[in-house]
Amino acid sequence: MMAALSASDNGAEVILIEKNEKLGKKVYITGKGRCNVTNNSDVENLLLHVITNPKFLYSAFYTFDSYMMMELLEKEGLRLKTERGNRVFPESDKSSDVIKTLREALKRRGVEILYDTTVSDVETEDGHFKAVTVLKENKQKKVIEGDAVIIATGGLSYPTTGSTGDGYRFAEDTGHQVKECHPSLVPMNIKEEFVKEMQGLSLRNVNYTLKNGKKVLYDEQGEMLFTHFGISGPLVLTSSCYCAGKDVSKMKISIDLKPALSKEQLDERILRDFSECKNSFFKNSLGKLLPAKMVPVIVKLSGIDAEKKVNEITKEERAKLVELLKNFELTPAGFRSYNEAIITKGGVSVKDINPATMESKKMAGIYFAGEVIDLDATTGGYNLQIAWSTGYLAGMSAALL
Ligand SMILES: Cc1cc2nc3c(=O)[nH]c(=O)nc-3n(C[C@H](O)[C@H](O)[C@H](O)COP(=O)(O)OP(=O)(O)OC[C@H]3O[C@@H](n4cnc5c(N)ncnc54)[C@H](O)[C@@H]3O)c2cc1C
Repeated sequence: MMAALSASDNGAEVILIEKNEKLGKKVYITGKGRCNVTNNSDVENLLLHVITNPKFLYSAFYTFDSYMMMELLEKEGLRLKTERGNRVFPESDKSSDVIKTLREALKRRGVEILYDTTVSDVETEDGHFKAVTVLKENKQKKVIEGDAVIIATGGLSYPTTGSTGDGYRFAEDTGHQVKECHPSLVPMNIKEEFVKEMQGLSLRNVNYTLKNGKKVLYDEQGEMLFTHFGISGPLVLTSSCYCAGKDVSKMKISIDLKPALSKEQLDERILRDFSECKNSFFKNSLGKLLPAKMVPVIVKLSGIDAEKKVNEITKEERAKLVELLKNFELTPAGFRSYNEAIITKGGVSVKDINPATMESKKMAGIYFAGEVIDLDATTGGYNLQIAWSTGYLAGMSAALL
């Protein structure tokens, strides 16, 4: 959508080919239906949040940064607001308003949109491009010709939205290298069966460390969630960016459930809780310290007899409990699938694309934009900004060809 808009603004006659019956099905589900459209921050900050190939994005971000995206949307009639972490949302909290704004902007510019039309092949002939399209209704084939083609087909995540990886095939068929793809910003399966007992429990202000052997891959404080298969939530999704596609067999997660307290302070706190219920069983003594769903799990893992009176618990047993709370360990058993992944890691190699124009280095006239390229970022509006910036630059460059 952005590539079409920018190409049109730069004088090109544009045909936007969309396989779905409407535009922006993926955008519709972003930000839990609210669309975290960008991050209200400068290019330096945008680059800091890009995990794969940030340097490739210099030109794209400096040509069209998040402030320009916000200005464009507001000029086109969409009011925006900025929330915690500089996350930008439509004031209406409706992702559909972002799509509507872009759709109407395209209409005003006279961009022709072909709906329910799937590009099956991209071919070249004497510097001209042909997109072979198939109409959903009757499977009728049609060839659309142009001086340039912009491939902006997205990645592989949430394939029901239309992103089924077709662009990777078009790229390979036209001589481009495609880096191996993996689901990223994705929940994790966990080996320990006890996670199931905590399904639905959300932890706030915990410290989460993901290690591969001795190497710390990610260490951050924030929120996470237990599910029927393992863990999810902001900390988990972001941590997956740093290890998607890697062998998880040596990985360990350590959660500090009480990061604000030192071990000594935590021991004092436990002693205080125990002294308030001297004759209680251990299993009934942790209610103030931990969420209810976690108590039976911690009791079991502590090795302390659940039926032991708290005034009989030894200093050594307390020390083990403190250790468990400061270092609650989980073992990753792999990542969830593309059906649950926010983005795709991997894609068309940046080595085959000119970063100043988004044009292919292998074949003049082919451009790439968005998630189809081997680029990805953390959550916070950065992935959409990658799509807006690369789309804008690709559209502009293709129009000025
Ligand atoms: C659940 C979820 C929540 C997210 N939330 C956010 C968020 O809040 N903020 C953020 O920054 N990012 C978010 N993202 C990531 C963001 O949505 C993507 O990075 C972004 O949409 C990528 O844009 P794109 O244009 O490259 O691809 P897409 O948005 O996937 O668009 C590609 C389009 O191409 C069409 N297409 C594909 N193949 C063909 C073909 N052969 N012929 C014709 N048409 C085709 C598809 O139908 C689709 O409409 C989220 C992703 C998910 C899954």
